[in-house]
Formats: sequence, structure tokens, C-alpha cells
Amino acid sequence: MKQLILIRYGELGLKGKNKNKFIERLVENIDGACNDIAGFSVRSTWGRIWVEVDAAAYPQAVARLRRVFGIYSLSPVVSVPRDMQAIQQAAYEVLRKCLPQGGGFKVETRRADKTFPMTSPEISRAVANDLFHRLDDNYWADMHDPPFTLQIEIRGEGNFVYGETVHGAGGLPVGCGGKAALMLSGGIDSPVAGWMALKRGVSVEGIHFYSFPFTGEQSKQKVMDLAHILAGWQGAPFTLHVVHFTEIQKAIHQFCREDYGITLMRRMMFRLAERIAKQNRCLALYTGESVGQVASQTLESMSVINEVTNMPVLRPLIGMDKEEIMAIAKKIGTYDTSILPYEDCCTIFLPKYPKIRPRLQEAKEMEQALDIEALLAEALAKTETLTIE
Ligand code: ATP
Ligand code: MG
Repeated sequence: MKQLILIRYGELGLKGKNKNKFIERLVENIDGACNDIAGFSVRSTWGRIWVEVDAAAYPQAVARLRRVFGIYSLSPVVSVPRDMQAIQQAAYEVLRKCLPQGGGFKVETRRADKTFPMTSPEISRAVANDLFHRLDDNYWADMHDPPFTLQIEIRGEGNFVYGETVHGAGGLPVGCGGKAALMLSGGIDSPVAGWMALKRGVSVEGIHFYSFPFTGEQSKQKVMDLAHILAGWQGAPFTLHVVHFTEIQKAIHQFCREDYGITLMRRMMFRLAERIAKQNRCLALYTGESVGQVASQTLESMSVINEVTNMPVLRPLIGMDKEEIMAIAKKIGTYDTSILPYEDCCTIFLPKYPKIRPRLQEAKEMEQALDIEALLAEALAKTETLTIE
């Protein structure tokens, strides 16, 4: 037996060519997420996307579809012949399944096939009458604020009865918004920032700065585990660039004033990220920064750090509190990995009193002691690119 699933997508603001590209991409991504499921097929007709799977594989299909961005909601649908008795029988079965204990409900009909001999209100009324005839007093009509709506659709290509609606991840299909580079640490914030990029349809490659031997194999593995989780949301392998950052950190520590350590380190990170992004045709950088969270995230710090790049730096968590970010991390499955103990390159050579309001002029003067080009070239030469499934 097969189970048909109706996929709804947000089409607000989508027109003409854009809309077709959006739908094609969504169908491709659904196919990528589900094509190993038994009996799977997907097609789009008349502004709808339909998925079909073997009935036994329905829960597995729903779990996968809930991670595909661009899907707002989905419903398991019963397909019936063009016949009132069959529609009424299906309506009864769907209602009993969705509301086994009873409750208030409403029947709603949409009739696109105008050759069907009854109007939409007539169909709704006939189905409701038949239901009340069969059901006990635990069921009642609720026309104003129904907790449950039974939907009937009479369309040229088929006739459908459904009720249950499962929420999707929303957003836009991954890949329809170009590609960006995510600065991915092992912390809580940056994986959430990456997820938010994906949610808006932007594909992501990760850049991780790694200070071996100060930060060990385990902290690298942790970032790879986070990349694996993001690959699941991306619906495609995740490219991770691991940049060897040790020499840069040592040079800053050795030649520059301690309180500017973080500012200068982060300026180097942005320089490297911009170059790697450009080499890989990424159009923007994403970070997990949020105003005021730490010394390097004051407006003064961010503006001095940002000065080294002309690329757009997108910070989707900018206005969020840590609690809100943690709630998303839990929801998307990165939290448990992010809180594992680890050393980040940011936590070594940590100044006792980091400069909270650095000045650009001072930062530039201190950088005179560094051979920036040579340091960048060496770090780039040692960058390792991994593909994480
Ligand atoms: P996170 O939880 O994402 O690590 P954080 O609150 O610890 O964030 P910072 O350490 O100041 O904040 O880092 C701010 C942002 O800089 C991170 O969200 C991330 O985008 C980037 N970043 C920090 N460390 C690294 C790193 N080792 N590799 C790549 N990006 C990094
Ligand atoms: Mg961090």
C-alpha cells in the first residue's frame, strides 16, 4: 500500500521565473533527502508537490521531509474515486484516525473540478451529515474556531481527503540563495548561524581555525561532528576548510600587545576567511556573533575586526540572547555536541584583560610588527579541505 503526502511551500513574494526555480530546487532537494525510501516518488503539479512512499515508510519519510527547508507543512492524504460514497468513507476514516477521542471539527471543501455535480458547501454539508450519522456525541461541529479541519479537495487530477498537518522547517530550499562561508568554531553559536544560512536557502562551506597542538584532535573531531549535523540540514555533503592557525597566534602573542590579542587574531581570521571564501565562490561570510556577548563582539571590536574585509559579513544571531540561541541549538541537534568540553583556538593565549573598545589606528600600528602576507600565505598553504557527509 502507498501513502500519498501533500507538500505545502511558502510562495509569498515568489513570481514567474523565480517561482519555477524555487519549485524545481525544492523537488530536487526532496528527491535528494528521500530517494532511498521504499516506494518513493515526487512530482509537482498545479502549484502542489506530491510525494508518495510505501505506507510502512511514512514515518521515515516525514522525519526526512521535516528537515528539508522550503517545506512549510505536509499532510498525509487519502486519494479517492470521484464518488460521494467513497469520499464519505474516507472522511470517516481520516477523522477517526486524527481525532480518536472525539472533539470539535469542521469540514472544508475546495472544488477545482467544476464538472463535479455538487458545490463545495453542498459537499461539506453532505459529508458532515454522514459523519454525524455514524459518530457518537463525543464529536461536534465547530464552525468558528475548529481545533480540527477535515479537508476535501475535488480536483481534475484526483480527489483527496486529509486532516492532519505536520509542520515543516520553513525557509527556502537550500541552493536557491547561492553559497556562503561559515566561520565554524566548536561552540554553540556558529552552528546555529550556519543553520540559519541554510534555512534561507544559502548553501554553506565551513572554515575552521585550528591551532594544533594547542587544540587537539578531539576539538577538530568535534567541529567535524557539527559539520556532519549541518550536512544533514543542507541535504548535501558539507565542505570544511581546516586552517592551521598556530603560527599566526604565536606571532601575535610574541610581537603584539597582549590586550589586543583577540582583536588582531580575529582580523587575521577574517582575512583568511575572505580569501578562502573567494577561492570557493562564496559570496558572504557568516559568523555566530551577537552584540555584546564577549569582548570581541562589542560594536567597537566588530568594526575594527570587520575593517579587513569588503565581503558582506552576515551575523544572523546578532540580536539574540544566549538562551534563545541555545534553544535553537537544541532543536536542530547541535547543542549536545557543542557543549562537549574542548579547547578552541580563541581560548589559548587568552589575554587577562582583553580590549573591549579597540581602536583601528592602534590595531594597525601593532600589525606593523607582523609579516601579514607571509603568515596568511603559510596558513593558506597548510589548509586542509574535508568533505563531510
Ligand atoms: P561560538 O559559540 O560560535 O564559538 P562564541 O560565543 O564562542 O561563538 P567567539 O569565540 O567570539 O564567540 O567567536 C565568534 C564567532 O567567530 C563564532 O561564532 C565563529 O563564527 C567565529 N569563530 C570563533 N572561533 C573560531 C574558530 N576557531 N574557527 C572558525 N570560526 C571561529
Ligand atoms: Mg567560540
